Amino acid sequence: MALVCFDLDNTLIDRDGAFLAWARWFVARAGLGSDAVEWLVAHDNGGFRPRPELFAGFAERFGVAISVEEYDREHPLFTWVEPAVLDGLARLRAAGWRLAVVTNGTVVQQTGKLQHTGIAQAVDYCCISAAVGVRKPQREIFERAAAGAGVELDGGWMVGDHPAYDVAGGIAAGLRTIRVGNQHAADPPVADHHVDSVVEAFAVILAENA
Ligand SMILES: [Mg+2]
Repeated sequence: MALVCFDLDNTLIDRDGAFLAWARWFVARAGLGSDAVEWLVAHDNGGFRPRPELFAGFAERFGVAISVEEYDREHPLFTWVEPAVLDGLARLRAAGWRLAVVTNGTVVQQTGKLQHTGIAQAVDYCCISAAVGVRKPQREIFERAAAGAGVELDGGWMVGDHPAYDVAGGIAAGLRTIRVGNQHAADPPVADHHVDSVVEAFAVILAENA
C-alpha cells in the first residue's frame, strides 16, 4: 500500500474558474461593472498574489473594500469538482492506494473548498500548510501527509500543476511526479509525466501499477 498526493488548486479543482465565479458575484453585489471582474482576474496571478495586496489594489482602483476574512469564507462556496475526479479518486482507493491532498494555503479557505466539493470525504487525509506549519516544496509536508494517511512515502506519487511547489516538492520527497496542465512557465524540474488534466493522471497511476 502506498500513497498518492494531490495538489488541490488547479489540480483537483478548477480554482481559477471558482475565482472568476466569486469575482462576478462580488462585483455584481458591489454594483460595479465587468471591468472590475477583469481587473481581479488580471491581478489574481492564479491565487499567488497575496490577498491583502490584491484587495488593496482593488480598493484603490474601484473604491470598494474586500475583506480577506470574508473572501476566505466566500470563495470556497464557488468551487466545484468534476464527477470524473471523484470517480478517479474512488478508483485509486479501490486499487489499494491511500490518498492525500497536500495544499499550500489557509485553513479556513482550503478546508472550505475540501468540504464544499466533497473531496475531503474522497481522500484519506488532507494536509494544509497553515495547519501543519510546513509548505510545499518542503519534504516535511509530504512526510506529514504520509503519516496522516497511515503509509510510507516509498513508492508514492505527487500530482500537481505547479513545477516549483508540486513537482519539486514531490521529487524532494522521493515521489514519482505528474504535472497537470500548462498554467505555469515550463521551468525545471521536469515531472515523470505531464498530462492535460488530473483525470489523465489517474489513468497513468492505475496503468503503471496494474
Ligand atoms: Mg495548484
